Amino acid sequence: MSFATLGLDPRILSAVTAQGYHTPTPIQQQTIPVILEGKDVLAGAQTGTGKTAAFTLPVLQLLSKNTAKVNNLQVRCLVLTPTRELAQQVADSVKAYGADLPLKYAVFYGGVSINPQYDQASRGLDILVATPGRLLDHLHQGTVSLSELQILVLDEADRMLDMGFIHDIKRIMARLPKERQTLFFSATFAKEIKELADTLLKSPVLIEV
Ligand code: AMP
Repeated sequence: MSFATLGLDPRILSAVTAQGYHTPTPIQQQTIPVILEGKDVLAGAQTGTGKTAAFTLPVLQLLSKNTAKVNNLQVRCLVLTPTRELAQQVADSVKAYGADLPLKYAVFYGGVSINPQYDQASRGLDILVATPGRLLDHLHQGTVSLSELQILVLDEADRMLDMGFIHDIKRIMARLPKERQTLFFSATFAKEIKELADTLLKSPVLIEV
C-alpha cells in the first residue's frame, strides 16, 4: 500500500514524500479513500496514529479540486480542536502538506491578539483551524462566517467535551449549513460523544484502528 494508490494528487504526494513518509498508517489507509468520496467519517483514533494526515491530506485534495474562489469572510473547511497546541500542530501539518496548493489557511485561538485574525478572515479562508472560544468571538462579531462551509472536522472530540466545550460546539454547529461533509475523530466513545456524533454525522463510515 502506498500513498499514490490511495488516489492522492501528485502535489500532495510530493509534500508527503518531503515529510519522509513512505507508507500510509492504518487510519490513513482507511480514511483517505472514504473522505475523497465525500462521505462522512466517524473515526476512533489515538494521537500518534497519523490521524492528522488522515483527514488533512484528503481535505486538501477535495478543496484543491474545486477551486471556486472563497468569498470574503467565508470558510470552506473548519477544523475544530480542543487546545491551542493541537490547533497549531494541525495548522503546521496543513501548511506542510498543502505547500504546493493555492489555498488560504489560518489558525485562530485565544491568548493572542485578535487583530491579525481579522485580516486573514476578511479575505476568506479555504481552511480554518480553530479552538471553539476564539471562533465564537469571531462569529459573534461577524468577522467570520460559516454559512458556506463545505467540510467540518472535529479533532479529539472527546477532549473537547472533557474540557467543557459542548455548549460552544453546539453554538458553532447552529451556524453551519446542513449540507456538508463531516469528519469526527475521537479516541473514546462515551455516551455523550456518541450522541454528539449522531447529531452531526449523516450515514458515517465507521473506522477503528
Ligand atoms: P498524529 O497522530 O497525527 O499526531 O501523527 C503522529 C506522528 O506521525 C506525526 O509526527 C506525523 O508527522 C507522523 N506521521 C503521520 N503519518 C505518517 C506516515 N504515513 N508515515 C510516517 N510518519 C507519519
